[in-house]
Amino acid sequence: MAASIKQFFKDFDALFFPNICQACGGSLVQHENSFCTICLHQLPYTNYHLIPDNKLAKQFWGRIKIQSAAAFLYFNKAGKVQNIMHQLKYNNQPKVGVELGKLYGKELVKEIHYTQIDGIIPVPLHPKKFKKRGYNQSEQFANGLSETLKIPVFSDILIRDLEKESQTGKSRSLRFDNMEAVFKVQSNHPKLNNVLLVDDTITTGATLETCAAVLQNSGIENINILGLAFTE
Ligand SMILES: [Zn+2]
Repeated sequence: MAASIKQFFKDFDALFFPNICQACGGSLVQHENSFCTICLHQLPYTNYHLIPDNKLAKQFWGRIKIQSAAAFLYFNKAGKVQNIMHQLKYNNQPKVGVELGKLYGKELVKEIHYTQIDGIIPVPLHPKKFKKRGYNQSEQFANGLSETLKIPVFSDILIRDLEKESQTGKSRSLRFDNMEAVFKVQSNHPKLNNVLLVDDTITTGATLETCAAVLQNSGIENINILGLAFTE
């Protein structure tokens, strides 16, 4: 009885708040979660976690020493991944990030390399953006990864140095020179040795390079980079 009432409300809810696929906009059937089966089948997976010398990892060569770099999906303009990123960033759909994190975590957990990580650190969002959006999309992705990888998320270790950020906001070139200054590591953080640094879309990798350098300076030796999507 209770189950059927629950189902009734679920169906009722679906009537007014239909569950749609965050990639194609189509209706979801009961067992589907955030994405339809067809989209899950068709999404452009990179499988970079299986390829150590992948295109993203190569981007960091000669810039900073990292353990690995991978991204879940290829970002292609006007494609399904663009829809997904739009939903995640601008349409108040944090669960999209969590769901994708869970999906990628299911793959990563099969690789010994990723099970040896002791903490997941999301790239922090500017507080103004956080206030507007209500959540950090990279942190949502990290939370999903954490669920299937069984590795804790540390959102307070890497933070934005707002004082320095406002000083450097004057001109673009000045800002670039001081990129490293806009992130800092919270003192008295738990001792970590091998972390997964997580971002949403990776393009040039400049932000991640800066974050990785700041983390390494604080004593965290091994940095693995992980993105939700990678723009080739
Ligand atoms: Zn779909």
